[in-house]
Amino acid sequence: MDIPSLNIATVRESLLSRRCSAVELAEEALRFAEAENPGTNAYLHFCPERALASARRVDDQIARGEDPGPLAGVPIAVKDVIVTKGVRTTCGSRILADYIPPYDATAITRLEQAGGVILGKTNCDEFAMGSSTENSAFGPVRNPRAPDRVPGGSSGGSAAAVAQGTAVVALGSDTGGSVRQPASFCGVTGVTPTYGRVSRYGLTAFASSLDHIGPFARSVRDAAAVLGVIAGRDPCDSTSAAAPVPDYLAFLDGNVKGLKLGLPREYLKDLTSESGELISRGVDVLRSLGCEIREISLPATSYAIASYYIIATAEASSNLARYDGVRYTSRSAQSATLSDMYRHTRGEGFGAECKRRIMLGTYVLSRGYYDAYYLKAQKVRALIARDFANAFEEVQAIVAPVSPFPAFKLGEKIADPVAMYLSDIYTITGSLAGIPCMSVPCGATSDGLPVGMQILTRHFDEVTMFRLADAFEKTGAGGHAGSV
Ligand code: GLN
Repeated sequence: MDIPSLNIATVRESLLSRRCSAVELAEEALRFAEAENPGTNAYLHFCPERALASARRVDDQIARGEDPGPLAGVPIAVKDVIVTKGVRTTCGSRILADYIPPYDATAITRLEQAGGVILGKTNCDEFAMGSSTENSAFGPVRNPRAPDRVPGGSSGGSAAAVAQGTAVVALGSDTGGSVRQPASFCGVTGVTPTYGRVSRYGLTAFASSLDHIGPFARSVRDAAAVLGVIAGRDPCDSTSAAAPVPDYLAFLDGNVKGLKLGLPREYLKDLTSESGELISRGVDVLRSLGCEIREISLPATSYAIASYYIIATAEASSNLARYDGVRYTSRSAQSATLSDMYRHTRGEGFGAECKRRIMLGTYVLSRGYYDAYYLKAQKVRALIARDFANAFEEVQAIVAPVSPFPAFKLGEKIADPVAMYLSDIYTITGSLAGIPCMSVPCGATSDGLPVGMQILTRHFDEVTMFRLADAFEKTGAGGHAGSV
């Protein structure tokens, strides 16, 4: 079986026609992923026992003539910030290097109930903080399409696994761009749903008001199918929304005629020429499908990075306080007094980026600075959300770049955190507004580096987003949709 060419439909077809069993498929997928992994370091660890147990359940259901679920037998990779019962969950951090969670995230439970087979956990920037996966305590990930380059981040391992073909779909998490940007860099589809669409129960908190779980896939259809499975109200997460989850696949009919699309002028001025050209060509394709394109303005965009790095670090400084050597973590051997124990455990356990953010976040929340920084940033966040709300009075979707540049070289930005932060300039706005947004492949530069196009829609209107992305994908303008 050619593992990298599989999709959800072909897996289902192979199982139901009895061409192979789910156990055989899982064994082969695990073998393939383990053999390919040294080339990318996309996976941190595999969970063969769990994968085979899921596959056995699917085989039993098929044998009994029952429906094995919409993701039956599908090999899945999961970012290592999403907890898995009995399977190590490190968050890319030394401080959780040996942490074995006692429960499953809701998204994990739902994937497995739908017949999905989780192969292993993927590498990421420590606690999802970064844009290149170089902040992982377990070594960087290489981009399968250009091994001297980063896969993007922070969900770089999940994007690389899907691009490499070692998983059919994957879960990532997105706080300011961590699904869309690596999807763009690796040439796959990545989706950040509406905030609250997917339960965050079991997603390790980075910045709780911005964190989302989102899927990666090699097609819009497969990404939509995964979202359909994991979305919906969950009593374990009070911020998960009760909004009904439509059958996304029913809307992928390729018809986008008459759809009004906005092109934000603030997003197009800093693009490197090649990425910019690919996006404008993508927009031409959408126009040829009958979409009406209008220029729009999102004036608060220029404040987005500053406000995000205040809000996200403030929340991170609070969320990371729980790693104290008492709960979750292994304790430093140098623990003569209680404060010594905290200091050494956290000093040894956290990497440089986490420490930077804890300090920055603590500072912006401190008395005397709270009003000047944190409160101001929250006001800017409201302005950004209002920009989108105004734009959506006029248009049904917004089309934009994902990143100002394609995948950069390993080591190129790691010494300059501010340059790294600027990678997220086009993704952070959607995160701050909490609207659905995704990256869909839009072609490649002359060096063969993939470039993604971003589509953003109104709260809970994932249907329009998927419909548009799918129609675009069907034209073939995005280039190779398959794995490397
Ligand atoms: N790169 C951004 C950051 O470092 C976004 C990360 C994310 O979305 N998890 O905060």
